[in-house]
Amino acid sequence: MFDTHCHLSVEDFKYDILDVVHRAQDAGVENILCVGLDAVDSLKCAEIAHRFDLLFTAGIHPHEALNYKAKDVETIAALCSDVKCCAIGEIGLDYKPGYTPRQPQIILLNAMLELAVEKQKPVVLHNRMAGKDLLEAVDRFNLVRKGVFHCFSEDLTFAEQVIARGFYISFTGNVTHPKSRTLEIAAQIPLGSLLVETDAPYQTPQPHHGRRNEPAYLVHTLESLAHRCSLDIDELTRLTVKNSMHLFGADNFNK
Ligand SMILES: [Zn+2]
Repeated sequence: MFDTHCHLSVEDFKYDILDVVHRAQDAGVENILCVGLDAVDSLKCAEIAHRFDLLFTAGIHPHEALNYKAKDVETIAALCSDVKCCAIGEIGLDYKPGYTPRQPQIILLNAMLELAVEKQKPVVLHNRMAGKDLLEAVDRFNLVRKGVFHCFSEDLTFAEQVIARGFYISFTGNVTHPKSRTLEIAAQIPLGSLLVETDAPYQTPQPHHGRRNEPAYLVHTLESLAHRCSLDIDELTRLTVKNSMHLFGADNFNK
């Protein structure tokens, strides 16, 4: 399995990250992508990726749009040269009411997309209530490697627009919840565009709901998807790993 999005650098994993990584390996999660949230966090992700032989991304989340400095963009640019850095992320737009104002978010997003073009890296995109503007933004840049819309929870029309542009769509533990609307959307996504992730420590799948999420729980998301699509779980796992390797160019790293 390939967990294409988690945050092992956050406080929640401070005391038992070694156990968390071992449990993931025991569960068959062979690849883990640690996603950076700002310059300092991306440096932490790089350190973790090297310590445990994982992968990482470097980027500045829209939440930081009012806080980041020019030197933080330089840090992200420098991290792109790291052999284990396989994408720019987590970047994007978040229009939840009361969140960071939109204009600074768009300025930050443009800076990150420019970097992705320059460094020829794919992007890991965060989107909340901002789908139209996010598509407009990626359309303005000639991204060589495209990317993924992570923790997808939009409708099928939006999914089709994403896929038409050559982007992947990634699903989290929220597809494991009973009567999940997102599971119905996921079931209609072409298998060649599908990725899975835990988004740990967030988005905990059903059997562990209410507790901290971790990469070892990725199997539950794959189980729900395989069951809904009447697919063999091993086959779905193989396909999503293949897609992840294709997007993140991870063939040179762990496998
Ligand atoms: Zn995330």
